[in-house]
Amino acid sequence: MAEVLLKDITKVYDGNVKAVDKVNIEVLDQEFVVLVGPSGCGKSTTLRMIAGLEDITDGELFIGGKRMNDEAPKDRDIAMVFQNYALYPHMSVYDNMAFGLRIRKFPKAEIEARVKEAAQILDIEELLERKPKALSGGQRQRVAVGRAIVRKPKVFLFDEPLSNLDAKLRVQMRAEISSLHTRLSATMVYVTHDQIEAMTMGDKIVVMKSGIIQQIGNPLKLYNDPINRFVAGFIGSPPMNIALADVFEEGGKIIAKEEGMTFIVPKDKEETIKSYIGKKVYMGVRPEDLIFTKKPETNNLRASISVIEPLGNETHLYIDTKEHQYIVRTTPENEFKVGDEVNFTPDMDKVQFFDYETERSLFYTE
Ligand code: ADP
Repeated sequence: MAEVLLKDITKVYDGNVKAVDKVNIEVLDQEFVVLVGPSGCGKSTTLRMIAGLEDITDGELFIGGKRMNDEAPKDRDIAMVFQNYALYPHMSVYDNMAFGLRIRKFPKAEIEARVKEAAQILDIEELLERKPKALSGGQRQRVAVGRAIVRKPKVFLFDEPLSNLDAKLRVQMRAEISSLHTRLSATMVYVTHDQIEAMTMGDKIVVMKSGIIQQIGNPLKLYNDPINRFVAGFIGSPPMNIALADVFEEGGKIIAKEEGMTFIVPKDKEETIKSYIGKKVYMGVRPEDLIFTKKPETNNLRASISVIEPLGNETHLYIDTKEHQYIVRTTPENEFKVGDEVNFTPDMDKVQFFDYETERSLFYTE
């Protein structure tokens, strides 16, 4: 296995589309790194440059310490699993998995041993004689993964491999790929637009937007300490509530307020927020950090309920102030009705603040 290093990697497509802009990523040996971001942010292009399927416009790519910019895909010792599986329809499952080894002139016995081993790992031993059209979506995806496993590559690359599966199967395959990662002790780079997939699978997550890396971190770092308003809103479901607030001083306290919501800035944050007095900041609070209260305090969000979503283990409320809609994650025990006026106390230690101009978090720590 091997590490993958991207140094100032840039991709400009014909017609001057800058798809990836000076990206730096270090994928350690045996690490599972997820590239995540909205459609068009450049994550597939980045993966395809690692695979050698796209030329690198600028910057350097190393796999296992070796510069790979000009190496052909077949010489990079990588295997890629695609969203559409890319199986050969006229070949059996066995032949699909054996194909890459045959063209590399592996001995027959070695091919058979590797295909059998992969089939066993993926629990598709019963399917080896079938053609892809006689398989379910999940089974096809397993064959596509099997085809990568038999190669025993230094690095596995996954491009949205679960996007064509239904919700239940996605959850199952997510866990299967995670346990495969552990079992093979493999280096893996995985692309998805789905932040839940990223959070549940990645040792390290790279959040991209418009070709630029926003933040690299482990799942909890991204959740608890997002570097900017974009990452704060992208990671987490339901998303963080982010509202524009005015900052002012009253009775020796610094207060951030929008219609219906008042936050008294905690003492340990005053020093930083002071310079924002008389200006606007974005205030962010996660749905689970708004605590229902019957006795409103100064620190309070007052709003009326417009939608109630009971999920069984928890309930999501959509509540409206005059200026903003907030989502609250609450316990199912409380009996709410649409139209109720309700009060919530924000957990002040968890509230985030972002600069209005740069949208950068005021309290982010490297
Ligand atoms: P993602 O995988 O995050 O959805 P992509 O890497 O596919 O994003 O695309 C990044 C940007 O590059 C997008 O603006 C997309 O339209 C553009 N792009 C992708 N492939 C090509 C291409 N072959 N030629 C020109 N522009 C492309």
